[in-house]
Amino acid sequence: MATSTPPDVVVEAEDEDDILGTARKQLERAAAHVDVDPAILERLRYPARVHRVSIPLERDDGRVEVITGYRAQHDNVRGPFKGGLRYHPDVTESECVGLAMWMTWKCAVMDLPFGGAKGGVVVDPKSLSEAETERLTRRLAQEFRTIVGPDHDIPAPDMGTGGQEMAWFMDAYSMQVGESSPGVVTGKPPVVGGSQGREEAPGRSVAIITRELLDYYERPLEDTTIAVQGFGSVGANAARALEEWGATIVAVSDVNGGIYDEDGLDVAAIPTHQEQPEAVARQAETTISNDDLLTLDVDVLIPAAISNVITATNAPDVRADFVVEGANGPTTAAAESILDDRSIPVIPDVLANAGGVTVSYFEWLQDRNRRRWSLERVRNELESEMTTAWSAVAREYAAGSALTWRDAAYVVALARLAAAHEARGLWP
Ligand code: NAD
Repeated sequence: MATSTPPDVVVEAEDEDDILGTARKQLERAAAHVDVDPAILERLRYPARVHRVSIPLERDDGRVEVITGYRAQHDNVRGPFKGGLRYHPDVTESECVGLAMWMTWKCAVMDLPFGGAKGGVVVDPKSLSEAETERLTRRLAQEFRTIVGPDHDIPAPDMGTGGQEMAWFMDAYSMQVGESSPGVVTGKPPVVGGSQGREEAPGRSVAIITRELLDYYERPLEDTTIAVQGFGSVGANAARALEEWGATIVAVSDVNGGIYDEDGLDVAAIPTHQEQPEAVARQAETTISNDDLLTLDVDVLIPAAISNVITATNAPDVRADFVVEGANGPTTAAAESILDDRSIPVIPDVLANAGGVTVSYFEWLQDRNRRRWSLERVRNELESEMTTAWSAVAREYAAGSALTWRDAAYVVALARLAAAHEARGLWP
């Protein structure tokens, strides 16, 4: 089918290396390996919808400020839109669209019955009192009233938001619709319908995928050294699980720097970002910079803090045998191509940290069924979903010539999305 120039409502990438530019390039690469109708491909380059809202916020001193919020809904052919809601001063519309695209691939590679979305509010959450954050969140739920819902679009915590914001959002939405609706958001506190094991899930999935990766390359976990950048929800939970399973964690860091011990750290004794913010290197004798951590001679490097930390500048110096992406987008496209030339496999974020959205799916199921799962059940089901996804991607990787691990994950996702679009029809 012929395709034409997209409509001007479509958001353009700010530059080709921003998140949206990267997400589109990754789609093009995968498309070269999948037999997909060009019209479907063209559809997937753009969000289905982007909502922009102006939120009046009364500050504690009585002033009213108007704050901008976005919700980008990329694709819902496989199920309701799903994705985080961030509060950050640098949020842009284009970033939300790129992150929404990543959510579409992530849900498809995990075979979850969800599409992709992402929302953001342009605000520094540290500048808000608790009461202001509550007012902002409740008013946001009102602004998004008609575009979210348990069968429509299900937000979750992201940068600058957490369980409390989700509880307020759920409460406001429930009041608006006149019934208790816990399934409208995930990542809630367990007392209001949140799932056991949601907090540890993205880090735990990083650990499971690292274990499967090492097994694939026939490298015993007990003989493996690992460096982890970022010691928050993702990094600390990954490091603690891998240590428990026998790996040696030699370095971890937070925003202020890291600690290193070639014989292995006692990871359980290091405070996580949630336990004591930015305290990783506070009492350590041997500290290390974040830049040096990325080039340590280890078996596995897990960047689990922020985006774009492995770049064309430091990729030639990376000495790890494998990179497993804990954060979203820690490796730039240029860096990945250098690592590929150097035969250093990079396991992509859309697979490795997908435990977060997977346990969000479990939470949504529990809310809809008014049932509670034990932590043991959540962990068992997560293990099963992650190893199934790993096997699908590994099969594609082993079958395809010159595919990177990211290409293989995208091929799996794109094939599923294309099949769903074929079955439903594009209705142009
Ligand atoms: P977090 O806030 O719990 O922890 C972040 C950690 O990174 C902290 O230790 C912080 O000190 C450190 N850090 C911040 N800036 C840094 C810098 N410039 N250099 C080194 N360290 C730095 O965050 P999180 O929830 O663990 O998220 C980390 C990454 O994982 C983000 O990219 C996030 O988008 C992604 N992610 C999170 C989830 C989730 O559900 N938490 C799910 C999937 C992906």
